[in-house]
Amino acid sequence: MAFVIPVFIPHQGCPHTCVFCNQHTITGLAGPAPVTPDGVRAVIEQWLARSPGRIAGGAQVAFYGGSFTGLPRSRQGELLDGVAPFLEAGRVREIRLSTRPDYIDGPTVDFLRQRGVTIVELGVQSMDQVVLDACGRGHTPGQAVEAVRLLRRGGMQVGLQLMVGLPRETTASFLRTVREAARLQPDFIRIYPVLVLRGSELADMLARGKYRPLSLGGGVVRAARMKEYFAARGIRVVRMGLQAGPELEKWLVAGPYHPAFGEMVNARIMLNRTRRILRDVREGEPVRLSISARDRSTFCGVRSANIARLRDLGLLDRFSLVTDADQPRHTVRVMNDSEPACIE
Ligand code: SF4
Repeated sequence: MAFVIPVFIPHQGCPHTCVFCNQHTITGLAGPAPVTPDGVRAVIEQWLARSPGRIAGGAQVAFYGGSFTGLPRSRQGELLDGVAPFLEAGRVREIRLSTRPDYIDGPTVDFLRQRGVTIVELGVQSMDQVVLDACGRGHTPGQAVEAVRLLRRGGMQVGLQLMVGLPRETTASFLRTVREAARLQPDFIRIYPVLVLRGSELADMLARGKYRPLSLGGGVVRAARMKEYFAARGIRVVRMGLQAGPELEKWLVAGPYHPAFGEMVNARIMLNRTRRILRDVREGEPVRLSISARDRSTFCGVRSANIARLRDLGLLDRFSLVTDADQPRHTVRVMNDSEPACIE
Protein backbone atom coordinates (compact mmCIF):
# COMPACT_ATOMS: atom_id res chain seq x y z
CA MET A 1 0.00 0.00 0.00
CA ALA A 2 1.27 3.41 -0.90
CA PHE A 3 2.43 5.79 1.78
CA VAL A 4 -0.12 8.63 1.50
CA ILE A 5 0.89 12.26 1.96
CA PRO A 6 -2.30 14.32 2.38
CA VAL A 7 -2.41 17.87 1.05
CA PHE A 8 -5.56 19.75 2.03
CA ILE A 9 -6.83 22.38 -0.35
CA PRO A 10 -9.42 24.47 1.46
CA HIS A 11 -12.76 24.58 -0.32
CA GLN A 12 -12.65 27.45 -2.81
CA GLY A 13 -15.83 28.92 -4.19
CA CYS A 14 -17.70 25.83 -5.33
CA PRO A 15 -20.71 27.05 -7.36
CA HIS A 16 -22.79 24.01 -6.39
CA THR A 17 -25.11 23.53 -3.45
CA CYS A 18 -25.30 19.81 -2.73
CA VAL A 19 -27.82 19.35 0.05
CA PHE A 20 -25.53 17.24 2.24
CA CYS A 21 -22.61 19.68 2.01
CA ASN A 22 -21.93 22.46 4.50
CA GLN A 23 -18.81 23.81 2.84
CA HIS A 24 -20.46 27.14 2.12
CA THR A 25 -21.11 27.59 5.82
CA ILE A 26 -17.62 26.46 6.78
CA THR A 27 -15.88 28.70 4.25
CA GLY A 28 -18.00 31.62 5.41
CA LEU A 29 -16.02 31.33 8.64
CA ALA A 30 -12.38 32.33 8.82
CA GLY A 31 -10.75 29.33 7.18
CA PRO A 32 -7.16 28.45 6.35
CA ALA A 33 -5.37 30.47 3.67
CA PRO A 34 -5.04 28.94 0.17
CA VAL A 35 -2.15 26.50 -0.15
CA THR A 36 0.79 27.84 -2.15
CA PRO A 37 3.21 25.68 -4.20
CA ASP A 38 5.79 26.30 -1.45
CA GLY A 39 3.19 25.11 1.05
CA VAL A 40 2.69 21.92 -0.96
CA ARG A 41 6.45 21.35 -1.06
CA ALA A 42 6.75 21.96 2.67
CA VAL A 43 3.98 19.46 3.48
CA ILE A 44 5.61 16.79 1.32
CA GLU A 45 9.06 17.39 2.82
CA GLN A 46 7.62 17.17 6.33
CA TRP A 47 5.90 13.85 5.67
CA LEU A 48 8.87 12.33 3.88
CA ALA A 49 11.19 13.37 6.71
CA ARG A 50 8.79 12.12 9.36
CA SER A 51 8.39 8.62 7.96
CA PRO A 52 11.51 7.71 5.97
CA GLY A 53 11.06 4.01 6.69
CA ARG A 54 7.54 3.85 5.30
CA ILE A 55 8.10 5.06 1.76
CA ALA A 56 9.77 1.95 0.34
CA GLY A 57 6.65 1.22 -1.73
CA GLY A 58 6.61 4.80 -3.01
CA ALA A 59 4.80 7.83 -1.67
CA GLN A 60 1.47 9.03 -3.01
CA VAL A 61 0.48 12.69 -2.75
CA ALA A 62 -3.29 12.97 -2.32
CA PHE A 63 -5.08 16.28 -2.68
CA TYR A 64 -8.09 16.41 -0.38
CA GLY A 65 -10.82 18.90 0.25
CA GLY A 66 -12.27 20.07 -3.03
CA SER A 67 -13.13 19.41 -6.64
CA PHE A 68 -9.60 19.76 -7.91
CA THR A 69 -10.40 20.16 -11.60
CA GLY A 70 -13.03 22.78 -10.76
CA LEU A 71 -10.19 25.12 -9.77
CA PRO A 72 -8.86 27.49 -12.46
CA ARG A 73 -6.32 25.62 -14.60
CA SER A 74 -3.55 27.98 -13.47
CA ARG A 75 -4.30 27.16 -9.84
CA GLN A 76 -4.29 23.41 -10.58
CA GLY A 77 -0.93 23.87 -12.28
CA GLU A 78 0.43 25.77 -9.28
CA LEU A 79 -0.53 23.00 -6.88
CA LEU A 80 0.87 20.27 -9.13
CA ASP A 81 4.08 22.31 -9.60
CA GLY A 82 4.59 21.86 -5.88
CA VAL A 83 4.74 18.07 -6.35
CA ALA A 84 6.78 18.07 -9.60
CA PRO A 85 10.30 18.14 -8.09
CA PHE A 86 9.45 15.14 -5.89
CA LEU A 87 8.08 13.20 -8.85
CA GLU A 88 11.18 13.98 -10.90
CA ALA A 89 13.44 12.88 -8.08
CA GLY A 90 11.45 9.66 -7.62
CA ARG A 91 10.60 10.59 -4.04
CA VAL A 92 6.89 10.64 -4.88
CA ARG A 93 5.50 7.92 -7.10
CA GLU A 94 1.94 9.02 -7.79
CA ILE A 95 -0.59 11.83 -7.40
CA ARG A 96 -4.23 11.30 -6.49
CA LEU A 97 -7.01 13.85 -6.50
CA SER A 98 -10.77 13.93 -6.40
CA THR A 99 -13.29 15.85 -8.46
CA ARG A 100 -16.81 15.87 -9.85
CA PRO A 101 -17.78 13.85 -12.94
CA ASP A 102 -18.80 17.01 -14.83
CA TYR A 103 -15.36 18.57 -14.24
CA ILE A 104 -13.65 15.97 -16.41
CA ASP A 105 -13.18 16.35 -20.15
CA GLY A 106 -10.54 15.34 -22.69
CA PRO A 107 -8.23 18.39 -22.29
CA THR A 108 -8.46 18.11 -18.50
CA VAL A 109 -7.38 14.47 -18.59
CA ASP A 110 -4.47 15.38 -20.91
CA PHE A 111 -3.43 18.17 -18.55
CA LEU A 112 -3.55 15.92 -15.49
CA ARG A 113 -1.62 13.17 -17.18
CA GLN A 114 1.10 15.58 -18.33
CA ARG A 115 1.43 16.80 -14.75
CA GLY A 116 1.88 13.29 -13.37
CA VAL A 117 -1.59 12.61 -11.95
CA THR A 118 -2.35 8.89 -12.10
CA ILE A 119 -5.38 8.40 -9.84
CA VAL A 120 -8.64 10.35 -10.01
CA GLU A 121 -11.60 9.83 -7.69
CA LEU A 122 -15.01 10.87 -8.92
CA GLY A 123 -17.74 12.03 -6.56
CA VAL A 124 -20.47 10.04 -8.27
CA GLN A 125 -22.67 9.57 -5.18
CA SER A 126 -25.60 8.02 -7.08
CA MET A 127 -26.32 6.70 -10.56
CA ASP A 128 -29.97 7.71 -10.34
CA GLN A 129 -30.99 11.05 -11.85
CA VAL A 130 -33.91 11.55 -9.46
CA VAL A 131 -31.60 11.17 -6.49
CA LEU A 132 -28.90 13.39 -8.00
CA ASP A 133 -31.50 16.10 -8.65
CA ALA A 134 -32.90 15.80 -5.13
CA CYS A 135 -29.36 16.30 -3.84
CA GLY A 136 -28.70 19.35 -6.02
CA ARG A 137 -25.63 17.66 -7.47
CA GLY A 138 -25.91 19.32 -10.86
CA HIS A 139 -24.55 16.40 -12.89
CA THR A 140 -25.98 13.31 -14.50
CA PRO A 141 -25.18 9.58 -14.30
CA GLY A 142 -24.19 9.82 -17.97
CA GLN A 143 -21.48 12.35 -17.07
CA ALA A 144 -20.08 9.87 -14.57
CA VAL A 145 -19.95 7.18 -17.26
CA GLU A 146 -18.25 9.58 -19.68
CA ALA A 147 -15.74 10.78 -17.07
CA VAL A 148 -14.72 7.19 -16.30
CA ARG A 149 -14.30 6.50 -20.02
CA LEU A 150 -12.11 9.57 -20.54
CA LEU A 151 -9.96 8.86 -17.50
CA ARG A 152 -9.46 5.26 -18.52
CA ARG A 153 -8.56 6.33 -22.05
CA GLY A 154 -5.99 8.63 -20.46
CA GLY A 155 -4.48 5.68 -18.59
CA MET A 156 -5.67 6.81 -15.16
CA GLN A 157 -6.76 4.69 -12.24
CA VAL A 158 -10.33 5.59 -11.34
CA GLY A 159 -12.02 5.55 -7.95
CA LEU A 160 -15.71 6.19 -7.34
CA GLN A 161 -17.23 7.76 -4.26
CA LEU A 162 -20.79 6.60 -3.55
CA MET A 163 -23.23 7.62 -0.84
CA VAL A 164 -25.98 5.68 0.90
CA GLY A 165 -29.04 7.30 2.44
CA LEU A 166 -29.43 10.15 -0.05
CA PRO A 167 -32.75 12.01 -0.38
CA ARG A 168 -35.23 10.19 -2.66
CA GLU A 169 -33.07 7.06 -2.51
CA THR A 170 -35.16 3.91 -2.82
CA THR A 171 -34.18 0.26 -2.87
CA ALA A 172 -34.49 0.35 -6.67
CA SER A 173 -32.29 3.44 -7.07
CA PHE A 174 -29.78 2.06 -4.59
CA LEU A 175 -29.52 -1.20 -6.53
CA ARG A 176 -29.24 0.68 -9.83
CA THR A 177 -26.35 2.69 -8.43
CA VAL A 178 -24.55 -0.43 -7.23
CA ARG A 179 -25.05 -2.29 -10.51
CA GLU A 180 -24.06 0.62 -12.74
CA ALA A 181 -21.08 1.57 -10.61
CA ALA A 182 -19.83 -2.04 -10.80
CA ARG A 183 -20.33 -2.03 -14.55
CA LEU A 184 -17.89 0.89 -14.79
CA GLN A 185 -15.21 -1.42 -13.34
CA PRO A 186 -13.52 1.20 -11.16
CA ASP A 187 -10.20 0.40 -9.53
CA PHE A 188 -11.67 1.13 -6.11
CA ILE A 189 -14.69 2.52 -4.34
CA ARG A 190 -15.37 4.57 -1.24
CA ILE A 191 -18.76 4.34 0.45
CA TYR A 192 -20.04 7.20 2.58
CA PRO A 193 -23.28 7.10 4.55
CA VAL A 194 -25.08 10.45 4.34
CA LEU A 195 -24.67 12.45 7.53
CA VAL A 196 -26.68 15.56 8.33
CA LEU A 197 -24.25 18.39 9.02
CA ARG A 198 -25.03 21.70 10.64
CA GLY A 199 -25.21 24.44 8.03
CA SER A 200 -26.28 22.13 5.20
CA GLU A 201 -29.53 22.20 3.26
CA LEU A 202 -30.13 18.69 4.55
CA ALA A 203 -30.20 20.00 8.13
CA ASP A 204 -33.02 22.36 7.09
CA MET A 205 -34.82 19.53 5.31
CA LEU A 206 -34.52 17.40 8.45
CA ALA A 207 -35.92 20.21 10.59
CA ARG A 208 -38.84 20.63 8.16
CA GLY A 209 -39.53 16.88 8.11
CA LYS A 210 -38.48 16.63 4.44
CA TYR A 211 -35.65 14.19 5.00
CA ARG A 212 -35.21 11.18 7.24
CA PRO A 213 -31.66 9.92 7.69
CA LEU A 214 -30.80 6.23 7.77
CA SER A 215 -30.43 4.70 11.21
CA LEU A 216 -26.95 3.46 12.06
CA GLY A 217 -28.13 -0.11 11.46
CA GLY A 218 -29.73 0.89 8.16
CA GLY A 219 -26.53 2.58 6.98
CA VAL A 220 -24.47 -0.46 7.92
CA VAL A 221 -26.83 -2.85 6.10
CA ARG A 222 -26.75 -0.77 2.90
CA ALA A 223 -23.01 -0.29 2.93
CA ALA A 224 -22.52 -4.01 3.58
CA ARG A 225 -24.75 -4.87 0.66
CA MET A 226 -22.75 -2.57 -1.57
CA LYS A 227 -19.42 -3.91 -0.44
CA GLU A 228 -20.49 -7.53 -0.87
CA TYR A 229 -21.68 -6.80 -4.39
CA PHE A 230 -18.41 -5.10 -5.35
CA ALA A 231 -16.25 -7.71 -3.63
CA ALA A 232 -17.99 -10.47 -5.60
CA ARG A 233 -16.88 -8.67 -8.76
CA GLY A 234 -13.31 -8.10 -7.66
CA ILE A 235 -13.78 -4.38 -6.98
CA ARG A 236 -11.99 -3.10 -3.89
CA VAL A 237 -13.83 -0.95 -1.37
CA VAL A 238 -11.07 1.04 0.26
CA ARG A 239 -13.09 3.08 2.73
CA MET A 240 -16.49 3.10 4.38
CA GLY A 241 -17.58 6.12 6.39
CA LEU A 242 -16.14 9.59 6.75
CA GLN A 243 -12.97 10.16 8.74
CA ALA A 244 -14.21 10.11 12.33
CA GLY A 245 -13.06 12.73 14.79
CA PRO A 246 -13.97 15.82 16.78
CA GLU A 247 -14.04 18.06 13.70
CA LEU A 248 -16.79 15.96 12.12
CA GLU A 249 -18.62 15.46 15.40
CA LYS A 250 -18.68 19.24 15.89
CA TRP A 251 -20.90 19.60 12.80
CA LEU A 252 -22.90 16.41 13.08
CA VAL A 253 -26.66 16.78 13.55
CA ALA A 254 -27.98 13.31 12.65
CA GLY A 255 -27.34 10.25 10.52
CA PRO A 256 -25.61 6.86 10.70
CA TYR A 257 -22.36 7.97 12.32
CA HIS A 258 -20.08 5.70 14.29
CA PRO A 259 -16.30 6.00 14.64
CA ALA A 260 -16.06 2.28 13.78
CA PHE A 261 -18.54 2.41 10.89
CA GLY A 262 -16.27 0.47 8.52
CA GLU A 263 -15.64 -2.21 11.11
CA MET A 264 -19.39 -2.52 11.68
CA VAL A 265 -19.91 -3.02 7.95
CA ASN A 266 -17.24 -5.72 7.79
CA ALA A 267 -18.80 -7.42 10.83
CA ARG A 268 -22.18 -7.33 9.11
CA ILE A 269 -20.70 -8.93 6.00
CA MET A 270 -19.26 -11.76 8.10
CA LEU A 271 -22.61 -12.22 9.84
CA ASN A 272 -24.44 -12.33 6.51
CA ARG A 273 -22.02 -14.89 5.15
CA THR A 274 -22.28 -17.06 8.28
CA ARG A 275 -26.07 -17.01 8.10
CA ARG A 276 -26.05 -17.93 4.43
CA ILE A 277 -23.71 -20.86 5.06
CA LEU A 278 -25.77 -22.19 7.97
CA ARG A 279 -29.00 -21.79 6.00
CA ASP A 280 -27.72 -24.41 3.57
CA VAL A 281 -26.61 -26.89 6.23
CA ARG A 282 -28.99 -29.41 7.79
CA GLU A 283 -29.63 -28.82 11.48
CA GLY A 284 -27.48 -31.08 13.65
CA GLU A 285 -24.81 -31.46 10.99
CA PRO A 286 -21.42 -30.34 12.38
CA VAL A 287 -19.99 -27.29 10.62
CA ARG A 288 -16.53 -25.87 10.95
CA LEU A 289 -16.16 -22.29 9.80
CA SER A 290 -12.85 -20.67 9.05
CA ILE A 291 -12.00 -16.97 9.26
CA SER A 292 -8.81 -14.96 8.99
CA ALA A 293 -6.76 -15.00 12.18
CA ARG A 294 -7.01 -11.19 12.14
CA ASP A 295 -10.81 -11.23 12.06
CA ARG A 296 -11.63 -12.62 15.49
CA SER A 297 -13.04 -9.37 16.83
CA THR A 298 -14.67 -8.44 13.51
CA PHE A 299 -16.47 -11.78 13.47
CA CYS A 300 -17.81 -11.10 16.98
CA GLY A 301 -18.95 -7.62 15.93
CA VAL A 302 -18.75 -4.29 17.73
CA ARG A 303 -19.63 -5.01 21.37
CA SER A 304 -20.18 -8.67 20.35
CA ALA A 305 -23.28 -7.69 18.39
CA ASN A 306 -22.83 -10.58 15.93
CA ILE A 307 -22.53 -13.13 18.72
CA ALA A 308 -25.72 -11.81 20.29
CA ARG A 309 -27.50 -11.91 16.93
CA LEU A 310 -26.36 -15.47 16.20
CA ARG A 311 -27.49 -16.52 19.65
CA ASP A 312 -30.90 -14.89 19.14
CA LEU A 313 -31.25 -16.73 15.86
CA GLY A 314 -30.36 -20.05 17.51
CA LEU A 315 -27.27 -20.34 15.28
CA LEU A 316 -24.45 -19.89 17.78
CA ASP A 317 -24.28 -23.58 18.70
CA ARG A 318 -24.45 -24.76 15.12
CA PHE A 319 -20.79 -24.30 14.23
CA SER A 320 -17.25 -24.29 15.53
CA LEU A 321 -14.83 -21.59 14.49
CA VAL A 322 -11.19 -21.90 13.49
CA THR A 323 -8.74 -19.31 12.27
CA ASP A 324 -6.44 -19.40 9.29
CA ALA A 325 -3.51 -17.00 9.08
CA ASP A 326 -3.65 -17.07 5.26
CA GLN A 327 -7.37 -16.54 4.74
CA PRO A 328 -8.40 -13.20 3.17
CA ARG A 329 -9.89 -10.67 5.57
CA HIS A 330 -13.65 -10.48 6.11
CA THR A 331 -14.38 -13.87 4.57
CA VAL A 332 -16.03 -16.90 6.14
CA ARG A 333 -15.67 -20.33 4.59
CA VAL A 334 -16.68 -23.87 5.42
CA MET A 335 -13.78 -26.18 6.21
CA ASN A 336 -13.55 -29.64 4.70
CA ASP A 337 -13.42 -32.63 7.04
CA SER A 338 -9.89 -33.35 5.88
CA GLU A 339 -8.52 -29.95 6.90
CA PRO A 340 -6.70 -29.66 10.25
CA ALA A 341 -8.70 -28.18 13.10
CA CYS A 342 -6.66 -25.01 13.50
CA ILE A 343 -4.40 -23.49 10.88
CA GLU A 344 -2.41 -20.70 12.39
S1 SF4 B 1 -20.23 18.41 -2.13
FE1 SF4 B 1 -18.61 19.18 -3.43
S2 SF4 B 1 -19.66 19.84 -5.28
FE2 SF4 B 1 -21.23 19.68 -3.72
S3 SF4 B 1 -21.39 21.74 -2.83
FE3 SF4 B 1 -19.94 20.58 -1.57
S4 SF4 B 1 -17.96 21.08 -2.42
FE4 SF4 B 1 -19.46 21.67 -3.97
